[in-house]
Amino acid sequence: MEILDGKLLSSKIKDEVKADADQYHLTPILAVITIGDDEASKIYVENKRKACEYVGISMMHFDYASCVKEDVVIRKIKELNKDKTVSGIILQLPLPDGFDVKKIINTISPIKDVDGLTEVSQGRLLMGEEYLVPCTPKGIIELFDYYKINLEGKHVVIVGRSNLVGKPIMLECLKRNATVTICHSKTKDLKKYTKEADVLIVATGKKYLIDKSMVKEGVVVIDVGITRIEKKIYGDVNPDVMDVASYITPVPGGVGPMTVCMLMKNTLIAYKNINDPK
Ligand code: NDP
Repeated sequence: MEILDGKLLSSKIKDEVKADADQYHLTPILAVITIGDDEASKIYVENKRKACEYVGISMMHFDYASCVKEDVVIRKIKELNKDKTVSGIILQLPLPDGFDVKKIINTISPIKDVDGLTEVSQGRLLMGEEYLVPCTPKGIIELFDYYKINLEGKHVVIVGRSNLVGKPIMLECLKRNATVTICHSKTKDLKKYTKEADVLIVATGKKYLIDKSMVKEGVVVIDVGITRIEKKIYGDVNPDVMDVASYITPVPGGVGPMTVCMLMKNTLIAYKNINDPK
């Protein structure tokens, strides 16, 4: 069994992004918008700040209280859209209840949508165009490429169908000629599908949903899930799966760091596109 080491690969990629960013005389800027005080979001934003500092991207943080008016946030995004010094804009999710997430996200200019969550970015992905691919799916594909895991003809089973992870990774796997099955909370007899997977990607946020009895020998496992219990982090996959898997991503240290470094990569792509469009 081999560990798909996202921590190691992400540090290599961050060095590449840093070398790339160093060539430009202007510092790329990533604008991060948060609303409310979700504890997990604070940790994610801090991780993003550290990664930005490392690679030479300047992070601007607009931190709104949960009572902020939606219009104020939308006006700020419009202002950031127009600001030529800003390369990327992200809205940290989840938002407190009562906000129209779709409306706020779709205010972000697609050219600066470094999380790849606007309808334009998602539509482009559906049509097979590469521009700003959502960071988690992009990071998973980088792991496959680095560890030379070829998806062609493989049966990839994805558990979870969100716009953030499940659906975009489905499209990326299809692009690489995998046969894809997607499961969700209404799937009957989940085990029947997971047992058939050559590659199993799990993104549900349900601690240890998948155990050894649900997978076949030699499966490649990508565990996206994060559940925090008393400051400890758990994945969606029970550690007993390591007994039978050929490759597995650890939690923490697998998909998480890859997601953050893909955000750095996307910010630089957007920077180049804004400052030096082809
Ligand atoms: P969502 O809550 O948007 O989606 C969860 C998906 O899991 C849904 O499609 C849901 O089905 C499905 N699901 C829930 N319970 C079950 C079940 N018992 N059996 C089968 N499917 C189930 O979450 P996200 O996609 O945004 O995130 C998923 C997890 O990944 C979370 O833990 C999140 O924290 C983590 N995450 C980690 C990242 C990283 O960098 N490591 C980045 C992004 C997310 P249905 O659609 O029917 O409700």
